[in-house]
Amino acid sequence: MKGIIFNILKKSVPASHVFAVFSGLIIGTVFGLSIPLIVLSHSEKVASYEEVAAVSMVEDALRLAGRSNSQEEDFSYITLPGVQKYDGPRLAQSMPIETKEAWLSWMSKNRGDDPAFLEQRWNWAQNLAETSELKRPEDIRAFLLTPREHFVRARNKGLEYADTWLSIGYGATITDPDVVSMMTTTLNVKPLDKVLEIGTGSGYQSAILSYLTKDVYSIEIIRPLYFETDALYRDLERNFPSFSVINRKLGDGYYGWEEYAPFDKIIVTCSIDHIPPPLLRQLKPGGIMVLPLGPPNRQYIMEIVKNEDADGSIILSRRDVYNGQSVRFIPFRDEGGTSYSTPVAEEPK
Ligand code: SAH
Repeated sequence: MKGIIFNILKKSVPASHVFAVFSGLIIGTVFGLSIPLIVLSHSEKVASYEEVAAVSMVEDALRLAGRSNSQEEDFSYITLPGVQKYDGPRLAQSMPIETKEAWLSWMSKNRGDDPAFLEQRWNWAQNLAETSELKRPEDIRAFLLTPREHFVRARNKGLEYADTWLSIGYGATITDPDVVSMMTTTLNVKPLDKVLEIGTGSGYQSAILSYLTKDVYSIEIIRPLYFETDALYRDLERNFPSFSVINRKLGDGYYGWEEYAPFDKIIVTCSIDHIPPPLLRQLKPGGIMVLPLGPPNRQYIMEIVKNEDADGSIILSRRDVYNGQSVRFIPFRDEGGTSYSTPVAEEPK
């Protein structure tokens, strides 16, 4: 070997030999690198939709290899749960919440939470139940089960259970807990409901939903944020298996998720001055949509109930769930970053 290299350096070896040695090195390196990638991608849970799983595995491999790919823009990224759906609502029902002591002891026996946060979470949820609309036992249970400390990003350490919205980067936020409790309560989620969320963001709202139903769908438009939260869910699934029921998609939520429509409930977590027609169409008759409606600087949390009368015409009823109190959400934007301001009826290209 020493001789060969020496000869190469001295340029006394024919060019074809040099080429052979270098191609050997390159092929060897690529093959060597691909082994851990193959192992990693196959250690993923196999999704029920093989084609989709294949796409997401390719993406994982690229991400793990730290390479970018010019074709990337053409992929549509979707993570779908397997056929066996973890029963988050059942787990929530089996949890004792009569006293803090009973709850703490059940949590430490049955779950993988960081014990440092449990007491804080209990007191915080208790306070929300007293001061906000968080009254339904199912919703209180979901708040008690969801480890907010994993969804508040590291930059906000110490504020995991603060009563405020917090930045999660990319111009997005994790919503104020009071507003999350108001919107969740308004949805009145039943265990068999199919729920669509627009604006995955930190992932916290969908994590809450995964303790209320096994059928959660969530769309995020900001590419790096989508991947960050997708990776977070994958990581947390080991200790919190109910997050594995969250179907996730990178895309423009204005157009909903046609393949899985209609939905019983739709929660929009970015602000807009009108109800996106495609979302209204994808809502079941009798279904509820909750969204922050209004101009960019001020919105009102509206509950929209869609009903059909005897001759099939659609009747919408709307209610300001916060009684006139305004909120301020991140704008509902298109892929180019422009906020939606007038209804767009047609489907995207
Ligand atoms: N539900 C989130 C709140 C995130 S803030 C949570 O629990 O943390 C609102 C999110 O809506 C942002 O992440 C923003 O990127 C996203 N968003 C804005 N326009 C969107 C669109 N057209 N489709 C999907 N998500 C969108």
